[in-house]
Amino acid sequence: MGRGEQPVPVELFEASSRFGGNIRTERVDGFSFDVGPDSFLGTRPEGVGLCRELGLEEELITPKPEGRGVYLARDGRLERMPEGLSLGVPLSLGGLLDCSFLSPAGKLRAMGEPLVPRRRDGVAEESIAGFMRRRLGPEMADRLAAPLLAGVYAGDAGRLSMDAAFPQLVDLERRHGSLLRGMLRGRGWLGVLQPPKTPESPFITPREGLERLVRRLVEVLPAEALHTDTRVEAIERTATGYVLKTSAGERECSAVVLAAPPWSVAELVTRGSAEGAFHELGAELREIRWSATATVFFGLDAASVELPLDASGFIVPEGEGRILAATWITSKWSDRAPAGKALVRAFVGGARHPELVELGDEALSRLAWEELRRFMGPLGEPLWGRVYRYRRGNPQPELGHVGRLARLRAILEGLPGLFLTGSGYGGVGIPDCVRQARAAAQLLLEAPSAGAARPSSGVV
Ligand SMILES: Cc1cc2nc3c(=O)[nH]c(=O)nc-3n(C[C@H](O)[C@H](O)[C@H](O)COP(=O)(O)OP(=O)(O)OC[C@H]3O[C@@H](n4cnc5c(N)ncnc54)[C@H](O)[C@@H]3O)c2cc1C
Repeated sequence: MGRGEQPVPVELFEASSRFGGNIRTERVDGFSFDVGPDSFLGTRPEGVGLCRELGLEEELITPKPEGRGVYLARDGRLERMPEGLSLGVPLSLGGLLDCSFLSPAGKLRAMGEPLVPRRRDGVAEESIAGFMRRRLGPEMADRLAAPLLAGVYAGDAGRLSMDAAFPQLVDLERRHGSLLRGMLRGRGWLGVLQPPKTPESPFITPREGLERLVRRLVEVLPAEALHTDTRVEAIERTATGYVLKTSAGERECSAVVLAAPPWSVAELVTRGSAEGAFHELGAELREIRWSATATVFFGLDAASVELPLDASGFIVPEGEGRILAATWITSKWSDRAPAGKALVRAFVGGARHPELVELGDEALSRLAWEELRRFMGPLGEPLWGRVYRYRRGNPQPELGHVGRLARLRAILEGLPGLFLTGSGYGGVGIPDCVRQARAAAQLLLEAPSAGAARPSSGVV
């Protein structure tokens, strides 16, 4: 990074022994898999742009054709999701009519989405469940759309804020009066009559797994600026900026980007001062809740799996089972297992069953295995199993999040040079994190050159 000809000295402090946070790729007996996030939205420019800049563009892959559909668990069985569904919105009449788990009345109500009046002015925020029920009707919302959207956050559709979690859908309603009209714009109304087809997956990932992106970033950054095993324990203001109290000593700096999760930032901003702006910041950040998840992986002999794994996996709506979802990794991505082997992942916990994440490894593996067998049928014996936990890995943008972000921005105005970025604020996906990081860097670099007396600050 440089402002004009002057390089800006930057240092990065990471509490754990490795970089990447949630992003981690593991290798076991010739299998390779992403423990947490496995891909990101290629339809957004930020993630692809970063890969391009790092020379990784040629390495990006999309899901295999057979890994583009998804099943839904219902009454102990797996039923294929209707074709032509986009973010829970049915874009194909044929796909909706074929759908086996909606009643004729439920289908009719969902088809009437373009006739539903837009949201009244003055409604501050609506939950995912509330928004989707209003637009698509309770049946389509509760059985399909809300579990699909809330699943992205491992959250509760009744508590998550639609406005904070899926602002693009709220915006479609605001601008076009209907989700369907907004999504079909350009294609025309007759688009709904076209035969349903599974759209190209919008997700991409490096061939070797997502951690390749982190390793490449570490390669291109100056090694002397990167510090692992260095926890930031507190932050205090000085006359010229801030002092960071880290587990390896103190560091003075003119500006700070706090890219740790909200709960961690809340601890370190309040440790140094019991009142004032830091105290207010901590109080707001402590209100952002999170959900815990575990991912459980099994390596299998493909010949022992009777079910054709012709999709990316399945989602388990509330009341249907003890896992949240499963991914058929070898159907979704190439090069993840030796020939003749299959790799599956179960998601456990979330807002629905947080207590399950605290089970011991053996009990958690057993639970995941039993649930996979219940839905998928015979799977043979697992070649190996692995359990990973994200105890505070999924920040929840619940009702009130939009207002909280506005209050955080107001507090930060009194703390020049301080920035908050990451999945706890304006968007949960990797492209959101990249966008925020770039915006913070840009503001830091521009403010002094634009003649501002003090650097700006913000939640970006
Ligand atoms: C199971 C799971 C699956 C997901 N799947 C996807 C997906 O497929 N696609 C997608 O786009 N997103 C996905 N996400 C979301 C994605 O992981 C996040 O958006 C993103 O990784 C968050 O990055 P972050 O830097 O904000 O936080 P984190 O990844 O949590 O990183 C924060 C870092 O800060 C460090 N830290 C914390 N406190 C301190 C401190 N006091 N001092 C120093 N360092 C500190 C931590 O050690 C950590 O390394 C998934 C999340 C989970 C949990």
